[in-house]
Amino acid sequence: MTIDPRTILVVWAALNILFAGILALVGMQAGKVRGVWHWALGDLLIGLSLGISSQITMPPPLAVVIFASLTLGSGWGLLYNGIEAFKGGRCRYWIPTVLALLMLANNLIFGVWSPDPKMRIGCNFFLFALVHIVCARALFVRIAQPLRTAYWLAAGSVSVIALLALLRLISILFAPEDSVRMFTATGVNPGVFFFASLAQMSMSFAFMLLINYTLANELKELASTDSLTGILNRRTIEVETMRQLALVKRSGENVAIMMIDVDHFKQINDRFGHPAGDEVLRQLANLMRSIVRGTDYIARYGGEEFCILLPGTGEIQAAALAERFRRLYSEMSIEWNGDVLKSTVSIGVADSRQAGADMETLIKAVDIALYQAKRQGRDSVVRFSEGVEAPNRAI
Ligand code: GH3
Ligand code: MG
Ligand code: MG
Repeated sequence: MTIDPRTILVVWAALNILFAGILALVGMQAGKVRGVWHWALGDLLIGLSLGISSQITMPPPLAVVIFASLTLGSGWGLLYNGIEAFKGGRCRYWIPTVLALLMLANNLIFGVWSPDPKMRIGCNFFLFALVHIVCARALFVRIAQPLRTAYWLAAGSVSVIALLALLRLISILFAPEDSVRMFTATGVNPGVFFFASLAQMSMSFAFMLLINYTLANELKELASTDSLTGILNRRTIEVETMRQLALVKRSGENVAIMMIDVDHFKQINDRFGHPAGDEVLRQLANLMRSIVRGTDYIARYGGEEFCILLPGTGEIQAAALAERFRRLYSEMSIEWNGDVLKSTVSIGVADSRQAGADMETLIKAVDIALYQAKRQGRDSVVRFSEGVEAPNRAI
């Protein structure tokens, strides 16, 4: 089977333009995800350049050389900028500019003014390899799954393109002076075009996968966190509690839960306004963040009620932490428009060993302990097992 590089280039160009359109459609819905428009425009420019290049005859018209060089160089540069932007980095617009100018200089000097196919094609493949090595380096990042799969698929695809370009470069270096042609159907050339076009498609798929996984992660985070405080919401802490209780049933371990309620919170809202109350809730969440271990879960259970889930912890240990939190919170002063907001918290504590390892009973137990803390004068910590009634008994 003979593979004609020009035919491959036409298909490659068409697919690039198609991907540019798809990426643009994705970009319209990608919200805050950066880099998508760079990829769309980069793909479009590369597609246009490859399309024009596939039709070039020698000697090439000057306008075609200028157009094909500038679009290809800036297209590659934009793909790189898209990767950096996607990762949250800075776009450096001198990169597509310099690449476009280098491509132009090479093709004008060795293609038009002093024709030297070996130099011209060699330099083109050198730049081709270089930009893809730089892109691959930017894409091989250590990151949690599933994003890692998408990043590494893109990095692998780009690396294949770089290797193929290097292969072609080496074959050019060893080829006799007058035998080097861009679209020759001999040696490694057809294979380079064929596999590079496939790798470029795979790279575009990987970009879309990157966007998809990022949007899915954002949605997951939105659905699992409380928008005011940034900590977990009630639904998520309930799911996590159920998961921890299932583990506890198998391992015989213990899991503790802490329910925190701000005392007379309504008075803060009434005296200083709702935004002041919101600030108190945010500061309380920050204090929670600062006292827990990496294995604990903190959540806003609702209104001014917060919850901490402590895997591998018993009631007494959790109560000691609760007491520390109560004291720190009571000492905390929040500046608000020239006023100082001060409040206290009541905390109920229970664990699965004392209260039972199912969700409903545990929540009921910690609620009873919290109610007891309120009843005995607020600003205090009460453990479920220290004298409060069991949840399944009448109280
Ligand atoms: P207690 O000591 O018995 O817990 O009294 P409390 O005033 O804290 O309790 P109560 O349940 O009477 O009032 C809770 C208040 O919390 C009422 C509600 O308006 C307010 N609240 C609930 N969610 C928010 C919120 O997101 N922001 C603000 N600022 N207030 C909230
Ligand atoms: Mg309250
Ligand atoms: Mg309350």
